[in-house]
Amino acid sequence: MTHTIGVIGLGNMGRNMAATLVKKSFTVIGFDLSETACKQAVEQGVIPASQLSILTEQCDIIILSLPKAEHVEAVCLGANGLIHLVTAGTTIIDTTTSVPETSRMVAAECVKRDIAFLDAPVSGGPAGAAAGTMSMVIGGDMKAYRHVLPVLEAMSSTRVHVGDVGAGNIAKIANNMLAAAHLITTAEALTLAEKAGVDPEKVLEAINAGSGRSAASQAMFPTWVMTKAYDSGFTMGLMRKDVGLAKTLAQSLNVELPMAMKSAELWEDSIHKLADSDDFCCIAQCTNPLLFGKEDNA
Ligand code: NAD
Repeated sequence: MTHTIGVIGLGNMGRNMAATLVKKSFTVIGFDLSETACKQAVEQGVIPASQLSILTEQCDIIILSLPKAEHVEAVCLGANGLIHLVTAGTTIIDTTTSVPETSRMVAAECVKRDIAFLDAPVSGGPAGAAAGTMSMVIGGDMKAYRHVLPVLEAMSSTRVHVGDVGAGNIAKIANNMLAAAHLITTAEALTLAEKAGVDPEKVLEAINAGSGRSAASQAMFPTWVMTKAYDSGFTMGLMRKDVGLAKTLAQSLNVELPMAMKSAELWEDSIHKLADSDDFCCIAQCTNPLLFGKEDNA
């Protein structure tokens, strides 16, 4: 197997995944439209490619870390896209949180050219990507999955192969639907406690020792909300996208999810208060700006 890996999309996640692979002795060639993103990746040992064809000439395992499904479709199927550039036998690992239907469509075009496509969205944030401890949920052909397993193992501590192509994104959408709701319900629980005269820090400690705990209460609130650091490296814009993916999927399947739809409504409404570039944990400020806001805008 090749030890030269291509990474397309060198943002908060892709750059850190690439750096982890470099640390684990892979040669990594990176491509991004943003000069700043490329420069930051070069500082971490990534070899920059000025165009996609330079990357595809040298890599038969290519990782995508792009914002949305539309970017995946353009990079893979566009006029100068990967399917026209890569050699037969290449495997594309798409770590973007994307639309299951897009994964299926891209995979169907890839298979005609003997290219394997796995949807493999991730959890763990930039810190998990930098430490090689992400969780991955993977959809696609088992033979392709086994072929790239050493690369996936280098980037993650947990991997669940959930089914055929598209299944990885369905699992990720379900996960982020919960994470999005947990951020709001945790903010509400701490607001209730504070109004009742109990220290929210103490209540958070109690929740984390009780049955109401979640990744929101155990990691997001202690690290980014209570500290008011709001620097997780995951944006409001991307989380609103993920909440929208859950809503669209539920509607397309005619599944009634009243709690998730209420959460989606709150995330949608947050556009009036929070910019796409704000940290996703800022959603807590919509519940209680005094408790969770930074001093200067509380
Ligand atoms: P990001 O915006 O920081 O990075 C995306 C990068 O893709 C940018 O550098 C952008 O310039 C580049 N890009 C866009 N179009 C391109 C193209 N056509 N060719 C090459 N590069 C292109 O986003 P991120 O936070 O790294 O997230 C990437 C994906 O991972 C998203 O789908 C996100 O939902 C998901 N995700 C993010 C996190 C997180 O904590 N940041 C966690 C889990 C999953």
